[in-house]
Amino acid sequence: MTASPLVGVLALQGDVAEHSAVLDSLGATVRAVRRPEHLEGLQGLVLPGGESTTLSLLLGSSGLFGPLGECLAAGLPVLGTCAGMILLSRQVLDGRADQKSFGAIDIVTRRNAFGRQVESFESTLEVAGLAEPMHAVFIRAPFVESVGEGVEVLATVRRSEGSPRPVVCRQGNVLVAAFHPELSGDDRLHRLLLDRVGERAASAA
Ligand code: GLN
Repeated sequence: MTASPLVGVLALQGDVAEHSAVLDSLGATVRAVRRPEHLEGLQGLVLPGGESTTLSLLLGSSGLFGPLGECLAAGLPVLGTCAGMILLSRQVLDGRADQKSFGAIDIVTRRNAFGRQVESFESTLEVAGLAEPMHAVFIRAPFVESVGEGVEVLATVRRSEGSPRPVVCRQGNVLVAAFHPELSGDDRLHRLLLDRVGERAASAA
């Protein structure tokens, strides 16, 4: 892998500092992405949690939506958490009518899906491919309502009477989580992103 891969963090709103700190601790060179020119040369990208309706508006007004969508379509490795997961989805339920998403992963995501009373909760998840369980912090979190054929479900969570819902999914170079790994001191999803960055760099070499 490149000694210090250049990884962007979408820095329009949300948990930018936390994600940047995790990536920095893993040896990446981190760039805050606010304008289209900040996409130039990126080897990976994180779309943080925040508020997906606001992010959708800001992606439009910053001129980033189109160019960022092209990078994703070209296979840029990306990790989207919470609102970032919503933005990467093919379809968003309970969103604003004008809310846009990239359609980079074939999932249908429901916003604020765990109900108003349970705005936030924590859970310990088994994640496929990770040796130890992961502590997950959910904040007004979405869940995945349905997945397309090419999507791997890496973890699910079950609340009270409900059926298990996917909360970590992957398709190609797109990895999404409904919770906030950057808040629980667990860097394993960021490591998975950097693994993809390394594999892509190696295959392009
Ligand atoms: N509820 C938020 C949304 O719909 C996501 C919450 C979060 O990112 N913590 O965008």
